[in-house]
Amino acid sequence: MQRRQLLQSIPLAFGGLSSLAARADEGGAALRPSFRAPAQIAPMRAQPERIIDISVCTRPFRPNGPRIEAQRMFGRTVVHHYGHGGSGWSLSWGSAMRAMPLVLATRESHIAVIGCGAIGLTTARVAQRAGLRVRIYCKERPPSVASSAATGVWTPDSRLLTAEHASEPVAAVWEAMARASFKTWQSMLGLPGDPVAWHDGYFLSDIPFDQDLPDSGPDGEPEYAELEARIRDLRPRPVSLRPDEHPFKVAHARRFTQMVFNLASYQRLLMDDFLREGGEIVRRDFEHRRQLAGLRERTIVNCTGYGARALFGDTTIVPVRGQTARLIPQPDVDYMLYLRGRNASMVPRRDGLLVQAQGPNDYNNDDTRPDRASSEEVVRKLASVFA
Ligand SMILES: Cc1cc2nc3c(=O)[nH]c(=O)nc-3n(C[C@H](O)[C@H](O)[C@H](O)COP(=O)(O)OP(=O)(O)OC[C@H]3O[C@@H](n4cnc5c(N)ncnc54)[C@H](O)[C@@H]3O)c2cc1C
Repeated sequence: MQRRQLLQSIPLAFGGLSSLAARADEGGAALRPSFRAPAQIAPMRAQPERIIDISVCTRPFRPNGPRIEAQRMFGRTVVHHYGHGGSGWSLSWGSAMRAMPLVLATRESHIAVIGCGAIGLTTARVAQRAGLRVRIYCKERPPSVASSAATGVWTPDSRLLTAEHASEPVAAVWEAMARASFKTWQSMLGLPGDPVAWHDGYFLSDIPFDQDLPDSGPDGEPEYAELEARIRDLRPRPVSLRPDEHPFKVAHARRFTQMVFNLASYQRLLMDDFLREGGEIVRRDFEHRRQLAGLRERTIVNCTGYGARALFGDTTIVPVRGQTARLIPQPDVDYMLYLRGRNASMVPRRDGLLVQAQGPNDYNNDDTRPDRASSEEVVRKLASVFA
């Protein structure tokens, strides 16, 4: 399949669905569900006027993957930890665990973390668990950080690095980080506010799943590495559904199961845990990296995400724009939707039904102005699958 055809068929927002689709093909009849899918499900109230918020942010993408390495500057050790593309939440725990030996090697008991997004907060928590005192310095904190605008699903290989950089050693490191993250996420199931939950979802298509979608032209995005096959054992396989096993107005449907992060309650949990264990958050906007020399901590973890481009002059970081919109919460809607070939998806978060589409010009695009018309169009597409 051509890459751009694939992009149409793969919900990058949901990362692993590419492999979900492939896995369903592999298993065939052996994958029949042991129970019938509910033909009656609560319909989503897919009306544009129910949009209550639109957020736009950029994924900090580096073609060769996240930067995790130590550097001496201004008499300090700076441990760089940024550039997680579309996988920052998913990989946060495993990635922070990978960065921690570099931090501990400095033998400092008090450290600074710059950044309070997915990576900064999680790194701070992992450092606290290792017995360190941590102060976070940041320009913004949740809910104003870019991380707060993410979809919030388990997408550990989404826009993380290009295929050409996915050598076996790199893929093995990724696998270790993904497995470590996954294990930590499972320890947060069932907590108040459901910071982490599992949901079923429906992957819907007008044409058979093994049939390519029409080529829609170049999208400008590179060939991303697809690594999720290495961790197939972590999730149930998707199943193809017969028309009487689902209520949607489409010819073809598959059910999959996916982990969802309720980012509002999850970020609150991270912040509360961080502060309760003696962490401090200081508002600070570093205009130049020389200002790091003024910090009292001698070990500094750089978790500035896309901010590292300006602050540390890393021009390899590419902004990949993404827009999400939330509709008024519907607690009875507990399933995800992805419309193959129609570029529309929905995730049932507790803070609203989060809808999303891929824009045609997202790559290398740092325009964070919301485009309401495109979110409304996604809502109308989602409405079309309900009777
Ligand atoms: C639309 C969209 C959907 C996404 N969905 C998912 C998903 O479902 N699952 C997933 O795993 N990932 C997803 N991602 C990717 C994920 O959101 C990112 O990988 C993650 O947010 C990166 O986190 P971060 O902490 O590195 O960056 P940020 O959240 O940008 O945090 C950077 C921090 O550094 C601070 N900072 C930056 N520069 C300076 C400076 N000069 N001085 C002081 N402070 C500074 C900022 O204030 C902020 O506190 C999505 C991304 C987008 C855009």
